Amino acid sequence: MNQYQKAAALIKNSKHTTVFTGAGVSVESGVPPFRGENGLWNEYDPKILDLRNFYKSPEASWVIIKEIFYDYFGKAEPNKAHQVIARLEKDGHLETVITQNIDNLHQEAGSQNVLEFHGNSRFLICNECGKRYKLTKELLSELPPKCKTCGEVLKPDFVFFGEAIPEEEEKLSFAEAEKADLFILIGTTGEIQPASLIPVVAKSKGAKILEINIEKSNFTDDITDLFIQAKATEALAKIESEFYA
Ligand SMILES: [Zn+2]
Repeated sequence: MNQYQKAAALIKNSKHTTVFTGAGVSVESGVPPFRGENGLWNEYDPKILDLRNFYKSPEASWVIIKEIFYDYFGKAEPNKAHQVIARLEKDGHLETVITQNIDNLHQEAGSQNVLEFHGNSRFLICNECGKRYKLTKELLSELPPKCKTCGEVLKPDFVFFGEAIPEEEEKLSFAEAEKADLFILIGTTGEIQPASLIPVVAKSKGAKILEINIEKSNFTDDITDLFIQAKATEALAKIESEFYA
């Protein structure tokens, strides 16, 4: 068996498969990662996503936030990796997707059960009254956008620096990791805490770990059972053809 046949067999034989995705899955849709060589932080100051700085100068922050997250990568579309993940869920072979990405692409591909560990850029939140808004062009026509109920500045509903992980998502993600007998890591290198602990918990509770990354990660030598060194789209396309062969 080659590694793609092995991966397909792991999915077939598992009772509870959880997928855990990171920036590497969205890069192929044109969404740049934050870190690394071609990452956003080479071009922009991470301070724009610092919670205190954001509320101190909302207008200046929003001009840049709009440019990065809404004008530019707001146009991204799901790729083959998102599509295969959605198909496996639809066909009953996959329980949950835990994603660190904030781009909504899993949902756009058709995934239903998605835990957004770092929130979702397609929504804005009022941290004063708690009202949540689905993004529209109209909301961003004047910067900074303001809450229609209380007038406070709206913030993208993803996790900023200095902000906690959404409590419910965190709880559910770790619960998923405990339930999984197969845990598939895709496009994530394990540099960001506490997200990087989720696969470790899965492993400690007996899950097999399948890892798909273009390079070895912090997980590979530590917890990974089967490592596929490839781009997410390539690997998932091959696993799909083996799985449905
Ligand atoms: Zn409000």
